[in-house]
Amino acid sequence: MKRDGQWLIVYDRPRAGFARGPQSDRPFPIFLNADHTHSLSKGIDAAKAGFDSIVFDLSALPFDENVRQTKEGVETLKKINPNIFIEGEIGDIGTGSEIHEKALDLSKGLTSASEAKRLVEATGIDILAPAVGNMHGMLKSMVSGETRKHLDIDRIAQIKRVTRIQITLHGGSGTGDEDLRKAIAAGINIVHINTELRVAWRSGLEEGLASHPTEVVPYKILPFAVQSVGQVALCRLKLFNKR
Ligand SMILES: [Zn+2]
Repeated sequence: MKRDGQWLIVYDRPRAGFARGPQSDRPFPIFLNADHTHSLSKGIDAAKAGFDSIVFDLSALPFDENVRQTKEGVETLKKINPNIFIEGEIGDIGTGSEIHEKALDLSKGLTSASEAKRLVEATGIDILAPAVGNMHGMLKSMVSGETRKHLDIDRIAQIKRVTRIQITLHGGSGTGDEDLRKAIAAGINIVHINTELRVAWRSGLEEGLASHPTEVVPYKILPFAVQSVGQVALCRLKLFNKR
């Protein structure tokens, strides 16, 4: 969570509280989310550029300082766009949507319900990103399917009960289907699976190159990567939407 300016596009189905995306030629609104924005100046850039939501991530700061600066961020960014969604973060979920060699011990950085409540009440954030067993990136053993991430479902339920706002699961890649189902039932509203999509992109690209060993035309190889990413996205959307 150290890099500024990591912006991504979120495709979302219309639903209460989120049904106000910009017009598009798709049958659903498209939202722009400024992911992991670590400074107010970057947040201001994103708000002025028209982003619909900003992950204002000051989780690396001591808790009281996180609260103070997040509150200041919410006040400043909502003056630029009163409808913008601001997400606050507490806890440690590691860095980078990458493949990690070794497991990190993030057990000391789990988010407590009491701190979540304080952050939400003191700052006015719209969305909370806690640490509940999730981790950015995936271990090699998760890519191969030997291991899975496990979430603290009771902790998610407790945090939801005391905050009553939208909750994001960052670092959801490599989590077992059953844990994701339970996490959503316990109160998770948004799930990030960037690393799974990156893994799918690479494996699709490798498949395209392997099946066309002498091909040099990009548009004959690249569709393999697009299709591979699409398959993972569809599979996850079906799970998240109980289909
Ligand atoms: Zn994240």
